[in-house]
Amino acid sequence: MKKERKILHIDMDAFFASVEQAVNPRLKGKPLIVGGREDKRRSVVCAASYEAKRLGIDSGMSTQEAFRICPNAEFAVADSAKYLYVSKQIGNLLHNYSPQVEQASVDEFYLDITGLDKRYCSYLDLGMDIKNNIKNSFDITGSIGISVNRLMSKVAAKLKKPDGMVIMEIGDIACFLKDLPVEKIPGIGKSLKERLNNYSIFSYSDMCRISEDFYVDKFGKVGVWMFAVANPSLFTEDDIHWFNESDAAPKSVGHSYTLPRNIYARHEVEAWLRLLCEMVGTRLRRYKLESRILHISLRQPDLTFISKEKNFKEFTNDSGDLFRRALFVLDKLKSRNIQIRALGVTARGLGPYTGTFLLNDQKKRKQLFNAQDDINHRYGDWTLHPASILSVRE
Ligand SMILES: [Mg+2]
Repeated sequence: MKKERKILHIDMDAFFASVEQAVNPRLKGKPLIVGGREDKRRSVVCAASYEAKRLGIDSGMSTQEAFRICPNAEFAVADSAKYLYVSKQIGNLLHNYSPQVEQASVDEFYLDITGLDKRYCSYLDLGMDIKNNIKNSFDITGSIGISVNRLMSKVAAKLKKPDGMVIMEIGDIACFLKDLPVEKIPGIGKSLKERLNNYSIFSYSDMCRISEDFYVDKFGKVGVWMFAVANPSLFTEDDIHWFNESDAAPKSVGHSYTLPRNIYARHEVEAWLRLLCEMVGTRLRRYKLESRILHISLRQPDLTFISKEKNFKEFTNDSGDLFRRALFVLDKLKSRNIQIRALGVTARGLGPYTGTFLLNDQKKRKQLFNAQDDINHRYGDWTLHPASILSVRE
C-alpha cells in the first residue's frame, strides 16, 4: 500500500475582480465587470465579481451583454501586471506553509501538505490558517480543497465556492461526488463529455462503475487516466498524470503580427522576424518541444499571402537558429520590394525536446536560454531579449 498523500488546492475567488475591489474599496459589494479593453461598451468580460456573477454575468461574455443585464455595473480595465504581482505575493505566502508549492495558473496553487496536520492540529486548521492569512494580507478570498491528489483537491475546491473549504478523505470521495456531472471534472471537456454520454456515463458514480478494460478499450490513454480518476484509492498522486484535453501536445507553435504600417525594407522585415522567432522559441522551450520545419507567411496590403516553409535536418528550439532558418526561408520567398502588412512564423514538425548535446557550445547556449526564460518568467516577458529586436519593440 502506497503512502497516502494530502494535496491542498487553493483557487482564488473571482480573482481579477476581487483584486480590483481590494485596491478600490468603492467597488466592494458591487457588481463589477473587469474588461479586456478601455472601451467598456466594446470589450469582453475577463472577470466578474460574485455580485455580478449572481446576476448571470460571467467571463467570456461581451460587455455589451453584461451591461444589458446590469446597466449600473461598475467597470475596470484588466491590469495584468497588478494581478501577476498579487499572484506572486500569494505564492510567496504559500511557501511559508509547504516547501512544495506548484502554481497552476495565475490564481491557482497546489501544496503538498502531507504530514503537516501535526503542526497545525488538523488539515482543517491548516486550511483555515491559509485562508485567514490571505484574507488579512490581500483582502481577497480563496476556496480550498484538500484531498489525496491534485485532481481530487481541485474538484473539492470547486464544490463550495466562494470562500469555501472541502476536505475529501479517500473514503468520502465516492459519496461526495456521486451526482457530479462528468464535465465538472477538470480535464473532461466537451468532446470527452459527449463520448462518455454516448456510453450512458453522465455522473461521477457512473464513471466508478466502469471497468478498466472498458476505459482502455474505448478511450486508450485517456481511458487509463479516467479509470484512475474513478478509483483514487488505487492510485497515489505520483501515478496520476494530469490529463487535459486542451493540454494535448500542440501540432505547431506560431506567432503572427499585423504591423501598424506597411513595411518593405529588408532590415525591418528581419527585425520583425527576429521578434517572432524569439516568441516561437520561448514557447517551444516552455512546451519542451523542438521543431524541424519552419514556415513563414507574409501578408501584403491587398490581403494576398505569400508563404514558404522548409524542412531542416536538425531539431531546434534555439531562437537564434529559428531566426537563421527564417532568413533562409525568406530568401526563397522572393519578397524583395513587396509591401508587407503582416508576418507570421510557425514551427512545425515538432518532437519532444531531449536536451542532449553533442557540443559544448550547444550546452552553453541552452544554459543561456534557461537563464533568459527564467528571468522573463519572473520579471515579465521581454525583460531580457536580443538587442536586434530593440528596433521593433516600442
Ligand atoms: Mg479562480
